[in-house]
Amino acid sequence: MTQNSNIRTKPDKHRYTFEGFGSEKHPNFLLRGAGDLNNWPLRVYEGTHEGYQALRKALQMAPGDVIGEVKASGLRGRGGAGFLTGLKWSFLPQDTPDKKYTRYLAANADEGEPGTFKDRAILEYNPHQLIEGMIIAAWAMQCRKGFIYFRGEFKWLIDKLDAAIKEARDAGYLGQNILGSGLDFDLDTYRGAGAYVCGEETALLNSLEGRRGEPRQKPPFPAVKGAYGQPTNVNNVETLANVPVIMRIGASAYASIGVKNNSGTRLFGISGHVKNPGLFELPMGTPLRYLVETIGGGTLSGLPVKAIIPGGASAPILTPDNLDTPMDFDSLHSAGSEGGSGGVIVMDESTCMVQAALRAMRFFAHESCGQCTPCREGCHWAEMILSRIEYGQGRRGDLELLESLVSRIMGHTLCPLGDAACWPLESIIKKFRREFEAHIEQGKCPAHSESVLVSA
Ligand code: SF4
Repeated sequence: MTQNSNIRTKPDKHRYTFEGFGSEKHPNFLLRGAGDLNNWPLRVYEGTHEGYQALRKALQMAPGDVIGEVKASGLRGRGGAGFLTGLKWSFLPQDTPDKKYTRYLAANADEGEPGTFKDRAILEYNPHQLIEGMIIAAWAMQCRKGFIYFRGEFKWLIDKLDAAIKEARDAGYLGQNILGSGLDFDLDTYRGAGAYVCGEETALLNSLEGRRGEPRQKPPFPAVKGAYGQPTNVNNVETLANVPVIMRIGASAYASIGVKNNSGTRLFGISGHVKNPGLFELPMGTPLRYLVETIGGGTLSGLPVKAIIPGGASAPILTPDNLDTPMDFDSLHSAGSEGGSGGVIVMDESTCMVQAALRAMRFFAHESCGQCTPCREGCHWAEMILSRIEYGQGRRGDLELLESLVSRIMGHTLCPLGDAACWPLESIIKKFRREFEAHIEQGKCPAHSESVLVSA
């Protein structure tokens, strides 16, 4: 039930900076009206942002042609893996659904990756763009029912989404025979309990069904057997919010933005030791240096940049010699990291890299669902070893022990969380090994030369 009185009307305490990737010629696609808490209603979306025109266009096309348009746009999933969206849509059975089964569509709004704060901006300021993207996706894949799965901490956003869904339903964009197309599709919101692992699509589906939020063995993949045993597509919020843009400007225009095989714009959340943290929409392939030095304004302290996490806490760490890397999935992979969720965390020279590794591992150890022994035990012990190194009780052989743990976790777990926990640790040890050795052998942190490490 919608509680309009609960919808926030005051800006939140977090600081956001929104920047289009150009001028009037290149307005924001995803952050239109962002920062204005009165931007969300249907009348603004229809009146100012050409709302639901893309849906009308899509409903004139055959579902397979809509999938073809999304494929031609080159859109890649913005949740982390960067998989081709149109291809993923084509994995659902192509036959016409009968009454025996329902195809489901789920928007993954379980944004829990540390350093990532992009989907919440779409949910808060442009909820109808997500809803429109979902209806177009439902038409393309012939889904009858959709869910928006929120992370537990996004409690205040649910009321706004419920209100936006009601507006869309009242206007005939949801429900039976949408705009006379024959499509029956409706949406519900669902709030998880705040587990990071529920961002993994099969854990999300388990949670959605009211089960314990832990990943399932794959195959079967959700496209074959997903929610309630039925064919299901799960896409990230930012991915789905791109769909109306593609339908509106056309696949070739969309594909011309960004760089080869990495089209469109991307939301980058810049945080850490920069002067100007915030959320920015920029073309894929924008150099990391531009994000850190021009948009981020360099470090607040004036100290040199020491390290950058380019795609949320699970992405392997980069160093200043990677600053000219284009921020797209392929270039970041070639540089030894990942585009991940688009969360860019900048660390200056005052950062203790042992502590950075410890904080990341503490998070992943806490969020391990416990199904796999390598992840459950390995992350816990990696956290213990890092903790003793950080607090001056490191032992000779601890680095080799950590490396051994990493090799036993990676590739030996049910879901990607095990690998995600190891990537930052492995890269930090590789690039800042001497800092770890100084902690162990001298009991000192080179980043804080005056400090003497003490047990916590
Ligand atoms: Fe759970 Fe970790 Fe195994 Fe994923 S890798 S299923 S989070 S124990």
